[in-house]
Amino acid sequence: MAAKETPRSQVDDEVTGSKESSRLNENDDPVVDDSIPIVKDEIIPVKKTYDHETPDNEFETPYERYEHYKNIQTWNNVQCPHCYTPNPRDAVYCQSCGKLIREYASTLSRVLAFIIDFICIFLLSIVVAIILAIVVPNSDTTNSDLFAILWLTASFIITLIYFIAFELEGQTTGKMILKIKVVNESDLKTIPVSKSIIRNLLFIIDLMPYLVPGMIGVIAMVASEKNQRIGDMASKTIVIKD
Ligand SMILES: [Zn+2]
Repeated sequence: MAAKETPRSQVDDEVTGSKESSRLNENDDPVVDDSIPIVKDEIIPVKKTYDHETPDNEFETPYERYEHYKNIQTWNNVQCPHCYTPNPRDAVYCQSCGKLIREYASTLSRVLAFIIDFICIFLLSIVVAIILAIVVPNSDTTNSDLFAILWLTASFIITLIYFIAFELEGQTTGKMILKIKVVNESDLKTIPVSKSIIRNLLFIIDLMPYLVPGMIGVIAMVASEKNQRIGDMASKTIVIKD
């Protein structure tokens, strides 16, 4: 250990000049191990700089930092939710404050959220059935087929509207309870209606095979690095912890 650290201080000495050397005690008298080659590039940390970089001390408050950075957002940046610094779009930790930028929701939490949503939709469809039974004459006898078609159609539309509308705000009831939300993969912002439609229509695939509902989706999430089901991959969305 000691032999490894000594050459490092020598190199610092060469780089930073007299300031450093005056701090060194003469008794330290470094023992240089010639067998270890000193490569400067490995020792001097290289600080990455970005075009938009501004020293931290220019900002009085996080809001000022946000104001500064919000106008230089580009498609390949993701903003840190803690200090608002733009980071590379796949960053997990912020390069400025070091805090966690995103944490993918677990498969279990997503399945539980879906079950809660399913129960909500089931209750809604019972309400629809009751209303249809009142509205459609002879719904239990001569008009039973019409009743079934109307009920199934209404339930399907309600299911789609439920997921699409709620996810525009990031959260369905289930996701709210499990404290997870759906966001754009690229900028972690709430998703547009087009993406919401794509990811929810693809439940048709994710819920396959219908005898074991959701097996495809679960396998996709477990296999995916970003815990995405097919609908997430197609719409470029992710579900993260809120
Ligand atoms: Zn940060």
